[in-house]
Amino acid sequence: PHEPVTVVGLGRMGQALAGAFLKAGHPTTVWNRTASKADQLVAEGALLAPTVGDALKAGSLAIICVTDYEAMRELLGASDVDLAGTMLVNLTSGDSAQARETAHWAEQRGARYLDGAIMAVPPAIGTSEAVILHSGSRSDFETHRSTLDALGTLTYLGADHGLASLYDVAGLAMMWSILNAWLQGTAMLRTAGVDAATYAPFAQQIAAGVATWLPGYAEQIDNGSFPAEVSALETDARAMAHLIEESEAVGVNAELPRLLKAMADRSIAAGHGGEQYPVLIEEFSKPRND
Ligand code: NDP
Repeated sequence: PHEPVTVVGLGRMGQALAGAFLKAGHPTTVWNRTASKADQLVAEGALLAPTVGDALKAGSLAIICVTDYEAMRELLGASDVDLAGTMLVNLTSGDSAQARETAHWAEQRGARYLDGAIMAVPPAIGTSEAVILHSGSRSDFETHRSTLDALGTLTYLGADHGLASLYDVAGLAMMWSILNAWLQGTAMLRTAGVDAATYAPFAQQIAAGVATWLPGYAEQIDNGSFPAEVSALETDARAMAHLIEESEAVGVNAELPRLLKAMADRSIAAGHGGEQYPVLIEEFSKPRND
């Protein structure tokens, strides 16, 4: 038997989530502030609840996916909404502090609360491409895992409710860093008549190659010891100078290369020039606001 589920919030993402539950055969109750966004789902077999409170009572699992945590709290905090006994899975994006606060807030109102973060676009929901992260009680996750499986590839990260949001933003840092590095190179090569499509497969290979270094470098970070097995940071810094000079010489933006070198230079000034690149974790691990 398929667990009955509720989806609250039928924006682009919420509609995809509800659609995936329906497709997997779950009795699905939906609610949205603007009711017309439920029309398509109702045509596909979803039940539209008259109020958000009714929606929460309909399923044994309620997915919330609205704009932000503020909207979520406003909606579920209304005086006529009773959260006692509900199992909430909040897939709204936010930061880790909001996730922890909201977990506390929901638990004080008698709800069970799992946080989650979606690292996928709506069309990927319901396929293995959709990476969905969860944090909170492991037993709640395990109880509802087979239902949540309908949404994508799930990863349980731990009991700290903030973890899903932290992994989410860490993933964004990775994504934008790769894209920016690629755009830097593309801008440089275009000045020599090399188009983006020609460089892209080469860049892809480099990104994939560098990615294989991560586990070994992570060991250095976890051990707090950075022997320069393949290269010293001062060698990298000299190559960074070339990257800046070349960017300037061909007339493209050199901001990103300068930032990379500034970080390496600070680490070298602190005495780490003879160590390996991941020693820069020390620069990344403290605030700097200028
Ligand atoms: P949309 O803008 O399409 O939808 C927003 C939803 O939030 C609507 O259902 C809207 O209701 C509802 N909402 C906003 N404020 C309130 C409120 N005060 N009370 C009740 N309902 C409210 O956004 P998405 O669906 O794209 O995104 C939803 C969440 O999913 C976000 O946190 C987003 O970061 C996350 N996400 C989205 C991705 C994407 O690619 N779209 C990817 C990964 C995560 P109404 O229809 O009435 O306006």
